[in-house]
Amino acid sequence: MRVYNTLARSKVEFRPVQPGRVTIYSCGPTVYKYGHVGNLRTYIFADLLSRTLEFLGYEVEQAMNITDVGHLTDDQFDRGEDKMLVSARLENRSAEEIAEYYTAAFMEDIRRVNIRPAAHYPRATEYIPRMQELIARLIEQGHAYEVGGTVYYDIASFPGYGKLSRNTTDQLLAGARGEPDPRKRQPGDFTLWKAAGENRLQVWDSPWGPGFPGWHIECSAMSTAIFGDRFDIHTGGVDNVFPHHEAEIAQSEAAFGHPVVGYWMHGDMLMLSGARMAKSAGNFFRITELEEHGHDPLAFRYLALQAKYRTKLNFSEEQLAGADKVLRQVRERVADWQGAPDGPRGHFAERFREAIADDLDFPAAMALVSELLHSDLAPGARAALLLDWDRVLGLDLGRAPTVETGELPPGAAELLAQRERAREARDYATSDRLREQLADMGVVVTDSREGQKWKVASRV
Ligand code: AMP
Ligand code: ZN
Repeated sequence: MRVYNTLARSKVEFRPVQPGRVTIYSCGPTVYKYGHVGNLRTYIFADLLSRTLEFLGYEVEQAMNITDVGHLTDDQFDRGEDKMLVSARLENRSAEEIAEYYTAAFMEDIRRVNIRPAAHYPRATEYIPRMQELIARLIEQGHAYEVGGTVYYDIASFPGYGKLSRNTTDQLLAGARGEPDPRKRQPGDFTLWKAAGENRLQVWDSPWGPGFPGWHIECSAMSTAIFGDRFDIHTGGVDNVFPHHEAEIAQSEAAFGHPVVGYWMHGDMLMLSGARMAKSAGNFFRITELEEHGHDPLAFRYLALQAKYRTKLNFSEEQLAGADKVLRQVRERVADWQGAPDGPRGHFAERFREAIADDLDFPAAMALVSELLHSDLAPGARAALLLDWDRVLGLDLGRAPTVETGELPPGAAELLAQRERAREARDYATSDRLREQLADMGVVVTDSREGQKWKVASRV
């Protein structure tokens, strides 16, 4: 497999630390608001990476952090307020409630687009002692200094600072707005531990007084706590390159004395009308919103597959509707062809592997899907290849295509009533049997606190 390493600025041959095993750390959500489909594009990229590696025969272990403290509203210059606390104040809830609520929403969202769960979801607030250990080590080694209960990283102490983003301190200064923090030795120094101000809700004791961690140290602490001081791939969106990942390199490499991450991979942004889709700017779509507009959430995944992960992708609902339609057609083909006679498969399988092994060239892989659909391979062979590729694509190509009609077929109303009575009598064996009987008629029944609900779907 070849991957584009942001640090090397080129496509390189991928070699994991341990042959056959791959460890991936992906920057995850800050759980202070609902995520949008832009965030999902970046997580889909990480999911495609891990599925591809598994498809190619590697054993993959992935971690994605949940940032539930310390991410400030101005992360370029490490200033402003903590995003979690802003939401807590606005929604009149505790930071813990905010984190719990939006973490659950995040989990639901990624499930909708078939992102497989990572092995680890470390929460920043569970790793505070580890962060403090790392900070103490950095102070001891002369890479960090404390002023009035706040600890700063001294970027001048780390010669490699800037190697990921190619940012220089001069450029940073030129771009800085407002007065630099007078307590910093250099304006580009970033915060590792921040003294708690008044009315601060999330506070921990530390050797430097009560406070909370900076966002960057969280990822250094969690990634190395889970994978040790050498792991294979670190992913994120391109907006994470600076300052977040530049800072992470400075922290981890200084603390451990050697490179920690083998390959840095970054996905480019999802755009909306020419601007980056962003929570703070308010120009975004949630995946649930698109679902309410009648789109299959996996149509969004389909769109994401159409663009190279390293290019910007402009989102529009028209394109999504187009993807919806094509996806449905592919599922219809697969349903028709499944079980039909198999036959020779040409070079399709190896060409698919080559495409995805070439730095996740999914546009090429999707072109192959379309070529296969129109090929003269035996229908059974076409279905088998598509279903095999779906292990990576994650488009549920084996799902029987349906349309919602909303009209109950004859006899279904009576069965629904019987089932309601069976549930009231706690006769679950009967209610399950009736559910299956209804499913055979195309009526999908789900139970909720308000009673049973049903949807009618029939094969197209
Ligand atoms: P946040 O919750 O804002 O920290 O973002 C979570 C992840 O989503 C990060 O890895 C970002 O790089 C990524 N991200 C944010 N906005 C976009 C966007 N418009 N397109 C793609 N990825 C994004
Ligand atoms: Zn991170």
